[in-house]
Amino acid sequence: MHIAVIGTGIVGTCTAAWLQRDGHQITFIDPREPGEACSFGNAGSLSPSACLPVGMPGMWKRVPDWLLDPLGPLTVRWRYAPAVVPWLLAMLRHSSREEVTRIATALRRLLEPIFDCYTPLLQAADAESLVRRTGCLYVYSSREKAAQWAWGMNLRRSLGVKMLDVGQEELESLEPDLKGRFRFGILAPENGSTLDPSALVKALHAHCMAQGAGFVRESATGFERLGRQVTAVRTSDGARTPVDGVVVAAGAWSARLAAQLGSRVPLETQRGYHVTVHSSNLQLRHTVMAVENNLMVNPMAMGLRLAGTVEFAGLKAPPRYERAQALLRLGKQLFPHLDTRETTQWMGHRPCMPDSLPVIGRARNAENAWLAFGHGHMGMCMGASTGREVAHLVAGRPTQVDLAPFSPDRF
Ligand SMILES: Cc1cc2nc3c(=O)[nH]c(=O)nc-3n(C[C@H](O)[C@H](O)[C@H](O)COP(=O)(O)OP(=O)(O)OC[C@H]3O[C@@H](n4cnc5c(N)ncnc54)[C@H](O)[C@@H]3O)c2cc1C
Repeated sequence: MHIAVIGTGIVGTCTAAWLQRDGHQITFIDPREPGEACSFGNAGSLSPSACLPVGMPGMWKRVPDWLLDPLGPLTVRWRYAPAVVPWLLAMLRHSSREEVTRIATALRRLLEPIFDCYTPLLQAADAESLVRRTGCLYVYSSREKAAQWAWGMNLRRSLGVKMLDVGQEELESLEPDLKGRFRFGILAPENGSTLDPSALVKALHAHCMAQGAGFVRESATGFERLGRQVTAVRTSDGARTPVDGVVVAAGAWSARLAAQLGSRVPLETQRGYHVTVHSSNLQLRHTVMAVENNLMVNPMAMGLRLAGTVEFAGLKAPPRYERAQALLRLGKQLFPHLDTRETTQWMGHRPCMPDSLPVIGRARNAENAWLAFGHGHMGMCMGASTGREVAHLVAGRPTQVDLAPFSPDRF
């Protein structure tokens, strides 16, 4: 089939790569260069352990404090509040222990095979050096503090995630730079990360192009249909691309296109920020998650990346880079010898669903249109496994992961 893949982020690119392995002819549609939207500046963690949703039991108790601090880990721009309150309430409805257990079980199935799903794509694109499996350290100021997160950690363990307690001495020998502030850790030895998320997307995309994919550098605006079949994708230049099938993987911008295919989904964006410190003076070997501070730190090819925060302000408001600077100040507190002279900052739009589950499945009103977006905080992790599963759907093969929890019709 000739399949148009709308969106060249990690999800669209991995999906195209898996479809191409099945012999389909691919045309990418995207006005931007590949890997330049949310897949550009994320923290790059590839974590089979990352199966917990954003809305956790009891989280609502901490939300008022967070909201009062405009530079805190979660903020809502007041002008945007009326639009987002129903969505936040829906997220809270998914944060009971029963719901979190259901969601984590579903996410874990998509996360467990992530390296199996990335490896063939990376090998084919000669990009294996962009991924390493050095593990992730979740770190805390004390063992007692870590106990506050024990329910979630135990849930991960019950789902088969390997997580090893690390006492202060061992922590300091694993990561001498953590000395001082952190006295307890939990090591997820099976986790990995990418040295450069954007370069990873570009490498996979370049391989698809070398294998004969086409690339229309325009925005998709709509579809032409004959009954329940999409026959063409229309683009902002007024042109049409005739297709046998289409995948919508336009990240945080997917809702309007999905609605045109009959699937109305509550897609919202949680904006996140990073600061990359180019000569950090730190020698971290693992991805480090400072749990109490909601800060992810990852040593990358271009420097040490500090990433995190959630800001509800929609797709159009300009970035508020004070939030990135707050990450830098936090980094300096946690790592006093961090050299912050050379930095760059960035904001990206995470595509998020209120239940923290992506949307993966056939669109409601079209036989030959599939949706793959809404991966929230874990799109790098789940890009390749999503692509593999979409290829199964397109081929009419049984999927390897139960996709029922990700159905576009669940809302
Ligand atoms: C600060 C931060 C840290 C993060 N850390 C991690 C992490 O460590 N690990 C992890 O797994 N995830 C992480 N994430 C999340 C991850 O970055 C996202 O889930 C992922 O990048 C989403 O990929 P995507 O392909 O769906 O969307 P995107 O990368 O945003 O790509 C969407 C593409 O669709 C295109 N598009 C939009 N509209 C149209 C249209 N109408 N027509 C054609 N094309 C269109 C856009 O131009 C874009 O290229 C983080 C995110 C942030 C913000």
